Amino acid sequence: MRNYYTAIQFWSYSLLVVCLCPLAVFLGSYMGWPLGIAPLLLLAPITVLAAISSPRVCSWTITVLAVGACFSEIFFRSDISEVKTTYPLSIMSAAVLIGLTLLIDAYIGKLRGKLSQIYNQNDELVRQLYECQRETQPVSDKSPSGADKKEKMQVESKENPDAEFGVNYPLLLLTLQDIGRRISTNQSNESLIPTVISTAKASLQCEYCQVYLWDSKASALKNALPVRSRDKHEYRPVPNSGVAAWVIENRQIVMRNDAEKDYRLKRILEEDPHMPDAIAPLTVGSELIGLLIIDKVDIESPTIGRLIYILSNIYALGIKNSQLFKRIEEMASRDGLTGLLNHATFQDKLQELIKNAEAQSTTLSIIMSDIDHFKSFNDTYGHQAGDFVLKEVARIWKTVMPENAIVARYGGEEFIGVLADHEYSQAVQIAEDLRETLENCPILFEGQQLQVTASFGVTELRHPATTTNELVKVADEYLYKAKEAGRNQVAGIAPNSARKPSN
Ligand code: GH3
Ligand code: MG
Ligand code: MG
Repeated sequence: MRNYYTAIQFWSYSLLVVCLCPLAVFLGSYMGWPLGIAPLLLLAPITVLAAISSPRVCSWTITVLAVGACFSEIFFRSDISEVKTTYPLSIMSAAVLIGLTLLIDAYIGKLRGKLSQIYNQNDELVRQLYECQRETQPVSDKSPSGADKKEKMQVESKENPDAEFGVNYPLLLLTLQDIGRRISTNQSNESLIPTVISTAKASLQCEYCQVYLWDSKASALKNALPVRSRDKHEYRPVPNSGVAAWVIENRQIVMRNDAEKDYRLKRILEEDPHMPDAIAPLTVGSELIGLLIIDKVDIESPTIGRLIYILSNIYALGIKNSQLFKRIEEMASRDGLTGLLNHATFQDKLQELIKNAEAQSTTLSIIMSDIDHFKSFNDTYGHQAGDFVLKEVARIWKTVMPENAIVARYGGEEFIGVLADHEYSQAVQIAEDLRETLENCPILFEGQQLQVTASFGVTELRHPATTTNELVKVADEYLYKAKEAGRNQVAGIAPNSARKPSN
């Protein structure tokens, strides 16, 4: 672009000089001026312009052309015989043009010198900034071997600016972009961690990579992937000793080769002699997400510390993102008060279970319950006591129901449970257990001993309900029957099967 502009500028000035040359001859003859005056008047502005705005070679070429134009008068002026004595004036005009170009050239040369000084200072500032960043980052970059690495980097960068610090930046950016995309599209930790490990192995060219997640409540590290028997010999970071503890406390990467030379880490390394090539903290802001363990990597590469640093930041964000996504999903599927599944999630789960039961020709039963006289309970003890009771009832449901059962808060004080592979008689037994437990469980709230009972409706798939809505409807009908029959009892399929509690 700049070359085109310079060429156009040069050819324009040259053309102008060539065109002004006959004009100067004509003007000189017409006005009867001494030689050199007309060319000086017409060509000086162009010479000055060219000297200011064109590169050196161009401006001097234009000056030579202008000088030529000064002398062309001698050959082409019609009144040459009359102005013969003024030859020296042509020489003077030419000298003025050359002088102008010389002056401007010298001044611009000075300016260029100053500019390049500023550029150099700028480069030095950038280099110092980069050094500062390295100092505040991985421990690996603070090692005494840093000087050797710097030298190597400078040589490389002089030879090939694209390969500064031995890195192919376009390729690195593409790799990082690809990793970022893959990390952000994997929203469950189950698929994210294998992606983290495979991308780390590919981009760092390491043999071993492991992710440990930090449990801040328990102050413990947990392997993000289940440990396979063949991995049992692998390095296990311990949160309260060795290098892992140092990384957790200082939130800095530790590279094994540099730790050996670092006086602060030498002693810690003795406690942890099997430390892998690198341990990097996975952090988002001040929050520790986990540790990235890298081993069998080209640890002497001058860029490895920085690359691990960049990758660990991307991975930490990805893992945090997936943890938040999981939490939001969890919150959206659960009831805020009791922690049980909410109505919408229950409907989806029941539909899924019915589908499975149909496909495998198995059965399933559901239990629905409603707390008795809960409105008057609230009126007597207050809504806070009512909320506390709802939490206790949910706890009893979770305790009494089998582990694989689905339990949900269906509505206000209505609870529902699905028992896959359970037929009606088994479900009735479980409902009886629930009823009895609730009846016999005093609930302590603010020094008061409270007690509630509930009524239950039980039904089994295909008796006669076959869909989600029908099943809930039938269970609700039996629940209503239990209420009608005097509450605090279980009612189900068989007509008039509402059972009175045994006293
Ligand atoms: P029944 O034996 O016929 O079921 O009588 P009931 O008073 O329980 O009647 P119903 O089931 O219609 O009453 C529901 C009451 O449950 C009304 C409301 O005060 C109470 N309730 C619903 N949701 C909540 C809640 O989240 N917290 C509290 N404290 N009370 C709730
Ligand atoms: Mg109700
Ligand atoms: Mg009720």
